[in-house]
Amino acid sequence: MMARTGISQAGAAPGAALPGRVEELGIIGAGGGGFPTAVKLQTRVSVVIANAAECEPLLHKDKELLLHYAEPFLRGMEMAMETVGAREGVIGIKEKYQDIIEALERQVPSGIRVVPLPDVYPAGDEFILVHMVTGRVIPPGGLPKDVDAVVSNVETLMNIGLDRPVTHKYLTVAGAVATPVTLRVPVGITVGEVVEAAGGATVSDFGVLLGGVMMAKPAASLDVPVTKTTGGIIVLPAEHALIRRHNAPWIHVQRIGRSACDQCRFCTEFCPRFLLGHPIEPHRAMQSLGFNTGADAMVSTLYCCECNLCTMFACPEDLDPKTVCVQNKPLARERGLVWKGTPESIEPHPMAEFRRVPMRRLIAKLGLGEFNNTGPLVEHAFVPRRVNLPLKQHAGVPAIPVVKTGDRVRTGDLLAAPEQGKLGARIHSSIDGVVTVKGEAVVIEA
Ligand code: SF4
Ligand code: SF4
Repeated sequence: MMARTGISQAGAAPGAALPGRVEELGIIGAGGGGFPTAVKLQTRVSVVIANAAECEPLLHKDKELLLHYAEPFLRGMEMAMETVGAREGVIGIKEKYQDIIEALERQVPSGIRVVPLPDVYPAGDEFILVHMVTGRVIPPGGLPKDVDAVVSNVETLMNIGLDRPVTHKYLTVAGAVATPVTLRVPVGITVGEVVEAAGGATVSDFGVLLGGVMMAKPAASLDVPVTKTTGGIIVLPAEHALIRRHNAPWIHVQRIGRSACDQCRFCTEFCPRFLLGHPIEPHRAMQSLGFNTGADAMVSTLYCCECNLCTMFACPEDLDPKTVCVQNKPLARERGLVWKGTPESIEPHPMAEFRRVPMRRLIAKLGLGEFNNTGPLVEHAFVPRRVNLPLKQHAGVPAIPVVKTGDRVRTGDLLAAPEQGKLGARIHSSIDGVVTVKGEAVVIEA
């Protein structure tokens, strides 16, 4: 039986108010956060910032989309601006992409401008981007709307402009693969199938990092599915330091950190959020490994954005202050700790601009210089026999299936939706096939 999916079929319900339409289409932050876009758009601000900074090494997805799909992207940006009442739109893109900047400048309508950004990490962090573009500092624990802005990823805005259910994901496959590329892949396809589409791994023993190398999650296997937030698949030799670093057990991080941290403060002095004036000092979080720290050191970990710069670049002892911050966050929350300062007291560090980490230095430090740093968008006809769509690919609650095992669905049909009134996102089928509802996922067999 074909599932009855009502409003969520492709092209349905034209003219609906934008946040409602965005919710129907299952659009979430495609840059990795997965926050439901419909919720983000329910505000009034003066500026919409398109985040095209794409600062994870080796990733090229956003600039490729701007190169090939500027029209739906700009349409989505104008729609978002109109919805939130913004008079101004800003596209923040690395200055090194001069050809794309020039092409965009020929196409942008009035009210939208292109702002070239330095090629530094983490330029794509929302807080850093907003500061670079507007000069405003989002308060610790705050949101861009606190400084009169909304930030949205390029692909997210393009999805708004395309006005169809999110069934596919753009991502870059890079590292130790035959042909680094940016691809459009069906959501729910396996990581292994996508790696094969990039010509396969060039080494026999390898690990895979999802999302990028700095804020990556190691893939448990090649069978894990691509989700709506997977922006990159990085293949690296199994013995590469980044694979070992991302798989290091917490007990190891603790033991080494306790004995080897000399409190040099390099981690803090390079921390982009510390440099922004936020109350985050990772060297103090490191003290928690040796003895109980005070509330100030604990509370600071809450404002760590997990960019990993302290661990991957700053620390001369190869310690892992980022993971120490991550481990301390829930403890700080349990103790009910919050920063008690006022937004007016936040003052960016006078050296902030001079301590930015250039991408080429980061790539060298990470041992990625040997890999081809390109990812052209290539058409590839994926014909998966099966897709596995997790019910939670987004911030909020898992979606609840609206189909049942045995239903037949088409690409774009609604599979699951969040409970009424709860934060979440709809999930649509990415292929034609037959449904099996399995615990935390809906599987479609072609
Ligand atoms: S940079 Fe490394 S050694 Fe220095 S304080 Fe931070 S964690 Fe300790
Ligand atoms: S991961 Fe490290 S550098 Fe990044 S915000 Fe957290 S403490 Fe600062």
